[in-house]
This record gives sequence, C-alpha cells and structure tokens, in this order.
Amino acid sequence: MSAYTITYIKNENKKEKPDFDNLAFGKYFTDHMFILDYSEQKEWHNARIVPYKPLQLDPAAIVFHYGQTVFEGLKAYKTKSGDIQLFRPNKNMERLNRSNERMCIPEIDEEFAIEAIKNLVEIDKDWVPDAPGTSLYIRPFIISTEPYLGVSPSSTYQFIIILSPVGAYYEEGINPVRIAVENEFVRAVKGGTGEAKTAGNYASSLKAQEMVSNKGYAQVLWLDGIEKKYIEEVGSMNVFFVINDEVITPELNGSILNGVTRNSVITLLNHWNIPVKERKITMEEIYEYAQNGELKEAFGAGTAAVISPIGELSWNDKKIEINDGKTGKISFDLYETLTGIQYGRDEDIFDWIV
Ligand code: PMP
Repeated sequence: MSAYTITYIKNENKKEKPDFDNLAFGKYFTDHMFILDYSEQKEWHNARIVPYKPLQLDPAAIVFHYGQTVFEGLKAYKTKSGDIQLFRPNKNMERLNRSNERMCIPEIDEEFAIEAIKNLVEIDKDWVPDAPGTSLYIRPFIISTEPYLGVSPSSTYQFIIILSPVGAYYEEGINPVRIAVENEFVRAVKGGTGEAKTAGNYASSLKAQEMVSNKGYAQVLWLDGIEKKYIEEVGSMNVFFVINDEVITPELNGSILNGVTRNSVITLLNHWNIPVKERKITMEEIYEYAQNGELKEAFGAGTAAVISPIGELSWNDKKIEINDGKTGKISFDLYETLTGIQYGRDEDIFDWIV
C-alpha cells in the first residue's frame, strides 16, 4: 500500500530555535510536518514529511464549518543518555481511531501512524529539549477537507502530525491548584462526543474556563451533563480522589475522555496494592468526605501536567481545602514514578516506552 512509504522533502530554510529555557506550551513548531491524504477513492495515500508551513484549504472545507475533526496529544522525552522515547503511543493511536469512529472519519493504520511519528521526531530530533520537565509535544490530527456546505461526512481528509517543544509544566516542583466546580456549563453529555478527542468539546469548554480564571481558579471541575451531580473531569484532565486508603475515579461512561495517564495511574495503583475504584461519585459525597476528614487528596491526571494536585475546591459558596493545600503522598509518588518512566530514570516495568 502506498501509505507505507513516506517521502521526505527536507526543509532547507531551518528556523531559528526558540529559547529552550522559555518554551511555555504549544507556541513553537519544528521544521517539518507529516501529512497523509484520504481521497475519494477511499484510501489513505501519499504519506510525506515536508517543511512545516501553512495549509492551503478551500474556505468551504467541512472542518471549518461543522468541526469534523479529531486530534491526539502525546510527548517525546529525552533521557539522560540522549535517547528519545515515546510513552504508550499505541494508546493514543487506539483512541484516535475511537474518536474517528465517533466522528465518521475513516480509520487510520495505528502502527503506521506510530511509524510516522517516529520518523518525524527523528528528523526533528534537535527540537527535543532536554532540561528537566521539558519535552516535545506531538499533535496528530485529522481534518475534513471536502469543500461542501451540506452537513454530512467529508469524502476527503488529511492526517497531519506537527511537533512543538514545550517547557516544564511545573517550574518549581509539583504544585496544587485551586479548582471551581462548574454548576452552569457542561463539557459533555452521555450520547454526545465527550469520549472523542474532537475540537467541539474544547470550544464549548472555553466559556466556563474563562469565567473561573477571572475569579482566580486554575480550572473547572466538570459535572455530568444531565443531573449536574456526578463528577466527570477536571479541566482537560481525568480526576482522582483519595478517600481514606482508597482511590476513586469516575467510571468511564461515554462522556468522559479515556485518558492514557488515567489508565497508567490505575495500573500503578494496582501494582502498589492501593485499592482503586472506578465508580460514579457525586460532589455531595466529596463534600461529606471532606467534612469528615476522609478526603485525603485529589488530583487531575493528563499528558500535559502528568499529575496536578488539587489544593482547594470551591463548590457553590463552600470552600473545601484538601490536604492543607499541599501535595499528598499518593499524588507525589504517582508523579515521580510516571515521570521517572517517561524520562528513563526508572525501569519501564510495564513496557510503556517506545
Ligand atoms: N480529559 C480530557 C478532556 C482531555 O483533553 C485529556 C487530554 N488528552 C485528558 C482527559 C487526559 O488524557 P491523557 O492522559 O491521555 O492526556
């Protein structure tokens, strides 16, 4: 199949690299990108790595109007010995295909997509930063390109991968954040697209995020879209609560994104013999646990921050302080172990590294 050979056009006008000590998130892009086309003949073809540049698309392309698009996010990490490694890329590509299925986008070959990532990262390897906590963020995405204003699945697509060197999420060590429980807006609803990584979910989250940041909160805690009672996610992370000696995370219900970090956290807790339950949990319960002194820790889990401890939850007019606003032991151990594996400091006991 033609998709399996990747042609390469070298960028002869390499960009000046940004200051790697001041990268922030998603602001700089490397010299090359990967593109694969899907044509009306119903096949993916013409795999290529080409100089990074703006795309040329018809203004009527479906992606601009109806948002038929999916994306992924993962990172390449540089180890002390200079090797570059990916963390569970197969999980991201599996999820990309689940998102594709939901959004009526044709399936991609997951193994080939990982090959494409490896090739692109190898070509732009000088862009992988090596200061502690920094990494190369990998953004694969698929856009619907057919120029057509009818609401129906596109007949043509592009699968594109771009790379962005990113700074350390925590400048001075892992740090708890203040979170506001969102009672008005919802992120997703059962039967909707919450389980897919698709643009609309993020567009519709902006309003709530804007409102709470104005009040000094880092993110919102999302409740379910029907009863606004059950906890779903925190910002764009999955959420965990340590109640006494047990860890609880909302069960996957169709509106929660199935995080790779979430899955890794559950695997590690099982490995450590710390009981972990995936179940429905309400904000009322959390408030009660907190009142009784049983809520020991809370944290978000996702690729960007890995583990983001929650120091304070604001719910209606109530404030819940968690672990005196400090990072708890389970949050810290998870952070250290996951980043240890990602950066090659710790042994890869689960075969997660590629
Ligand atoms: N929930 C949402 C809504 C997200 O966008 C993300 C980031 N992909 C996550 C959870 C965490 O997923 P992961 O651990 O795979 O990064």
